[in-house]
Amino acid sequence: MPVLDHGPRDRKQIALTFDADLTALMRRRLVSGTVKSYYNKALIDELRALHVPATMFLTGMWMEQYPGITRQLANDPLFELGTHTYDHRGFTKHCYTLGTVPRDQMLADVRRAITELDQLDPHATRWFRFPGGCYDATALHELAPAGVTAVGLDVPGADGFAKSPQPIIKQVLDHVQNGSIVVLHMHGGDNAPYTAQAVGPIVHGLRARGYQLVTVTQLVSRR
Ligand SMILES: [Zn+2]
Repeated sequence: MPVLDHGPRDRKQIALTFDADLTALMRRRLVSGTVKSYYNKALIDELRALHVPATMFLTGMWMEQYPGITRQLANDPLFELGTHTYDHRGFTKHCYTLGTVPRDQMLADVRRAITELDQLDPHATRWFRFPGGCYDATALHELAPAGVTAVGLDVPGADGFAKSPQPIIKQVLDHVQNGSIVVLHMHGGDNAPYTAQAVGPIVHGLRARGYQLVTVTQLVSRR
């Protein structure tokens, strides 16, 4: 499986990417009402208002929870969608607290999310992101038949469990360069509560420095 961590360094383009995690634990919080939603609508509204192209990586479980929203995102020409596994388990033995997909289930897990996306999105991309950014040679080997490209990052957005918007804004603006792929999250809730407030200042800051914001597909397309 090919891996892409950034785009060309000779163009002032940056791809903002947004992952939609949903784990078994997060779904229990939805069911119990502890968390109202893992769809950060304020974030998407902000991206639309600012006309920001973006690439989103959706877990299969998130698409099952939000099929109508997945269709809306798919039909918005600003956005392109890829996959982020079925239920956000890790693809290495020790990936934070995410657990581990057994080797013999890796391909089926990723294909399940791809199938779900294809049912909801007529323009589905073959971009894929590993949960927690965790992978090794075994995972790449097992997933080669899935036909997807792993999209990594060179700038983690640090919006997970953030306490305010300011550190997210600073983290992104301090670390981007030509061709950067920035990872943020679009599930909101208790897991990424300040992404919507951070994204406006990030977009304005990047544009003020002359960066064009593009999708991952646009980032790597040679013109
Ligand atoms: Zn994730």
